[in-house]
Amino acid sequence: MPTAITITRMTMPIREPLVDRFGRVHTYLRVSVTDRCNLRCVYCMPSEGFEHVERDEILTYEEILRVVRLMAEIGIHKVRVTGGEPLVRKGLANLIAGIVATPGIETVAMTTNAVLLAEQAESLKRAGLSHLNISLDTLRADRFEAISRRANLREALAGIEAAIRSGFDPIKLNMVVMGGVNDDELLDFVELARHRPIQVRFLEFMPFKSNGWDQGTLVSYAEMRRRIEEQYDLIPLFIPDGPADVTKEFAIPGFEGTIGFITSMTEDFCKDCNRIRLLADGSLKSCLFHPPEENLRAALRRGTSDDEVEGLIRRCVSAKLEKHEELEELIRLENNPMIAIGG
Ligand code: SAM
Ligand code: SF4
Repeated sequence: MPTAITITRMTMPIREPLVDRFGRVHTYLRVSVTDRCNLRCVYCMPSEGFEHVERDEILTYEEILRVVRLMAEIGIHKVRVTGGEPLVRKGLANLIAGIVATPGIETVAMTTNAVLLAEQAESLKRAGLSHLNISLDTLRADRFEAISRRANLREALAGIEAAIRSGFDPIKLNMVVMGGVNDDELLDFVELARHRPIQVRFLEFMPFKSNGWDQGTLVSYAEMRRRIEEQYDLIPLFIPDGPADVTKEFAIPGFEGTIGFITSMTEDFCKDCNRIRLLADGSLKSCLFHPPEENLRAALRRGTSDDEVEGLIRRCVSAKLEKHEELEELIRLENNPMIAIGG
């Protein structure tokens, strides 16, 4: 039986907020807790493989919680836990409970492939996890194996049902749409929202080194929407041409859930980017597509003061560029593989 976890939530004043050179205020931290995964998705794990971080170079939960506390003091109020696959790291519910209890943190979310979720959904809910994003790219067992190089569709589907039963609402279901790979399942995924309280989100395929991306595999937001609108009425729940929101969400008459699009490639979100990323080895990144600007691990381990660690965090955000490069250039950039960044 998992032990019960007590949650206390407190608010607190913010010292000087975390603002970059372009006036963007940073309020959202994504924490990758491991670069290991129980799947090997072709679009995420480089085809030539990659070197995992040594175990003793992975931040401990105590070190992660210290960074979260420092960030909360300077205005971070949302934390997303990701990986690799976060559920392969032991005791994750304890970390979630610790983040939930951090003064100033209002939302704690997680992204998972759901393969281990059936056994952990209840304890994560009890720990105070408020938002759950689940990645699923196909409903066909043979295709699941081809995309993720593992035969775990049944476990992933059981994980999604367990999450619904545990009361996560809404659940976001992320499908990376790849031309010629799974784009013929668009309408099957729309149907998942008919009787379930889930937001099905279609992600444009992003280029990373050795992940099979080329222009032909990118199915744009406009194209996905055109194909879906041949069959369904889409009612926008966002303001078209309004401030950039990462999800363009739509209702469909008679549906319990909704659908959405993440248009990272055809309409980027740089202008309003409020994100900073902490990787499992302590690296700190200000942009998904650029290598880390800082690594906090050494500082955290040699007893550096809170003020100095905060200085490193601010230096990372000050180095943030206004915009990332154009599509074709992204694939050539030196960067961590997606499996180490966590989305
Ligand atoms: N293992 C967890 C999972 O799969 O949900 C968390 C880590 S995974 C790297 C986070 C998210 O990044 C997933 O939704 C995944 O589909 C997405 N992702 C990975 N590579 C991508 C790519 N090349 N283009 C678009 N999304 C990608
Ligand atoms: Fe693992 Fe998630 Fe990457 Fe797939 S997308 S290899 S599940 S980290």
